[in-house]
Amino acid sequence: MLDPKDFKKHSDPVVAWIDHYLNDITKFPVKARVAPGEIYKTIPQEAPLFPEAMEKIMEDLDNTILPGITHWQHPGFHAYFPANSSVESVLAECITSAIGAQCMIWDTSPAAAELEQRMVEWLRDAMGIPSDFEGVIQDSASSASLVALITAREVATGFRSNEEGVPNNLRIYCSTETHSSIEKAVGVCGIGKRNLVKVETDTRMQMDPSLLGKAIKQDLERGMKPCAVVATLGTTGTLAVDPLKEIAALCKKHGIWLHVDAAYAGTALLLSEYRWMIEGIEEVDSFVFNPHKWMFTNFDCSVYFVKDAPLLIKTFEVLPEYLKTKSRGRVNDYRDWSVPLGRRFRALKLWFVIRSYGLEGIREKLREHIRLSNFFVETLTSVEGLVMPVEPFLNFSCFRLQPDGITDPVRLNPLNEAFLEEINRSGELYLTHTKIDGFYTIRMIIGQTYVGQKHVELALERIKKAALSILNKFGQNG
Ligand SMILES: *Cc1c(COP(=O)(O)O)cnc(C)c1O
Repeated sequence: MLDPKDFKKHSDPVVAWIDHYLNDITKFPVKARVAPGEIYKTIPQEAPLFPEAMEKIMEDLDNTILPGITHWQHPGFHAYFPANSSVESVLAECITSAIGAQCMIWDTSPAAAELEQRMVEWLRDAMGIPSDFEGVIQDSASSASLVALITAREVATGFRSNEEGVPNNLRIYCSTETHSSIEKAVGVCGIGKRNLVKVETDTRMQMDPSLLGKAIKQDLERGMKPCAVVATLGTTGTLAVDPLKEIAALCKKHGIWLHVDAAYAGTALLLSEYRWMIEGIEEVDSFVFNPHKWMFTNFDCSVYFVKDAPLLIKTFEVLPEYLKTKSRGRVNDYRDWSVPLGRRFRALKLWFVIRSYGLEGIREKLREHIRLSNFFVETLTSVEGLVMPVEPFLNFSCFRLQPDGITDPVRLNPLNEAFLEEINRSGELYLTHTKIDGFYTIRMIIGQTYVGQKHVELALERIKKAALSILNKFGQNG
């Protein structure tokens, strides 16, 4: 049991550990190489009855835990979407954990509530989101989208669903490329997955607004009630951007709640050259993006903007006696802005990151990642036997092996699965895949905070080598 008086003594080795971790991260294989159950087996079956030394705990951290960690901050991490961080954010998280405040209402830490309010305003204004939007920090885009759909549900039913339960005629619309969190939310909020309409997409995998219009019309004719449309800016598979302006016009015409899921690509709105993505924002009701993905802020930190905050509060407000305060009504009690009561002090890390980088510093990094991605794409297009099936966007691109004349996914998919395995085998890189029109396709995202030219050059070299090796084997086996 440690005494706060000895904090410095005990934190020194931990700080040294973090310093080593951040600076020597490339010595680890990006993706953990353990078998299922391997770590679990090495952790004792029973909790210790008596104190153990910190030295021993730190030793086990290295020996038992670290081998089972996938290193998301490794510059060779190009999988999924990044959950990047920064030195600033790590430091702020340390302070947040020392303060250990539970920021459910204004009274439980006024600075947390007021800093949160200011941070979401800073981001709103820097991203070109209209000033009538208010914001709140949530744990994840999944939670924020759930909150959006529940609010839309209450609005569509005159605030009766919370009391009486959900009628079975509400309809939600999204595209076939929409993130799985929407399907989950539609189930959780009681609207029911069979009331989720997945609209087909065009050749760049963006929602086709004419098909959305048809689906809404059909539902109205059948006596169903269109409740919400979810538009995605930057889909998970291929970073497709749904045409917001056309979708917004349809929502306006029919009085439908419009939620925007910009979890990943929303960060790009900090760059004025990507503001076209939010043409139509005036008609949007709610919007989520994750600073914990591409804005150098540790997971978790998801920013949810809403145009009519009173509707949100009316949906989630509960007021047991022990939470009644004198300040109520004059301040933001954020527990009424989402599902959980308890809330971490997440605004502090945003404050550290935004101030230490400055908005221009953040923009510079984003542009550098996009430049690196363009360089990657330019170099890779010249590789024989490789195709890039959809247009790259921001810092995303995707590619697959498609040797001359072969167009059958039954033959190509195993080849590309082997290709991805070969790319990841060295431990220097970690990429993941998606399916595009049934074709196994490898995704490349360049978004780790400290990734640079030399890392991308190394990635290109490894990918080219893996392509050659797989194509050679393929040629030999016919
Ligand atoms: C990552 C992502 C999500 C899920 O984000 P969480 O914060 O992990 O819930 C949802 N939608 C899109 C488009 C995403 O990229």
